Amino acid sequence: MADAIWNEYELFCPVCNAYFKQLVVLHKVPENFDITPYLDGFVERHDHKAFQEAQRQKAQSGSSGDAPQ
Ligand SMILES: [Zn+2]
Repeated sequence: MADAIWNEYELFCPVCNAYFKQLVVLHKVPENFDITPYLDGFVERHDHKAFQEAQRQKAQSGSSGDAPQ
């Protein structure tokens, strides 16, 4: 477990046309590990519909983010 590396990446989704933050956990990756296709996988699997819905709600609720449910 000590070998796990936690990194937060800011990824760009061309479908949503927006950046989103993705926490990535890496376990014992080789030194020459190419993270780019791995991160591309996160963009592909990212839930566009839910993300866009959240962005829209954020825009509607204005600058104060803690609107009561
Ligand atoms: Zn997306």
